[in-house]
Amino acid sequence: MSILVVEELGKSYSGFQAVRDVSFVLEAGEMLALIGPNGAGKSTCFNMIDGQLAPTTGRMAIFGKSTAGMTPGDIWRLGVGRTFQVAATFASMTVAENVQMALLSHHPRRWPALRWAARYHVAEAERLLALVGMTDQAQRSCGELAYGDLKRLELAIALANDPKLLLMDEPAAGMATRERHALMGLTGRIARERTIGVLFTEHDMDVVFGHADRVLVLNRGTLIAEGAPAAVRANAEVQAVYLGAGSLYGARS
Ligand code: ADP
Ligand code: MG
Repeated sequence: MSILVVEELGKSYSGFQAVRDVSFVLEAGEMLALIGPNGAGKSTCFNMIDGQLAPTTGRMAIFGKSTAGMTPGDIWRLGVGRTFQVAATFASMTVAENVQMALLSHHPRRWPALRWAARYHVAEAERLLALVGMTDQAQRSCGELAYGDLKRLELAIALANDPKLLLMDEPAAGMATRERHALMGLTGRIARERTIGVLFTEHDMDVVFGHADRVLVLNRGTLIAEGAPAAVRANAEVQAVYLGAGSLYGARS
């Protein structure tokens, strides 16, 4: 069963059609890239899938359930994780405490006073930090982390509700090329190990084509290509779209 089914999804902002008739599926354990030039509608798609934006047209199903009328909280509780373009953590807390806070957020009725948060989910937080290779940094304050480490922490936080669908809108924004490869390589390993389907977007085309199992290309709100990385990279229409914005064979941000 496909874990995400998107059918004829569309969004218009007061008359401007940002996304039009987008249909695709995502399978369990698959790394699916959604790419396209700035303004193509990628973030709009992410925001509809995670429930922040109501689609103007179309339907979606996550794990076989229609998401019509669901809030972002409902969708998160289905088992959907999300990372953001801007890392969102509590700077004054330690790395471990940030993961513990994320773990606590799925037991809302047991939510303790903030000052007791450090006592909960200690072992589980350790496991998540080990998964992203941050065991050594668990007791550091988040405010002093290097940017790349902050992004790995954010991945651990997104994994806290044990998602089977992970949405990553430019998870590597602001990182150097080598760090981008490392973050997406790590994400791919975790996705395969835990059978998580990942929908991600990324500006660096080498990173996209190096880590995606399949690629969707969005241009002006419409899907123009879909397929295996090599086939999409060789697609004439895709190349034409990227000529204006930068090369398909190298970073452009
Ligand atoms: P991408 O993430 O691919 O860069 P976006 O989904 O952010 O693209 O934006 C798609 C288009 O929709 C752009 O032309 C953008 O200006 C427009 N847009 C995005 N959000 C809004 C909004 N809240 N109101 C009006 N237009 C918007
Ligand atoms: Mg965007």
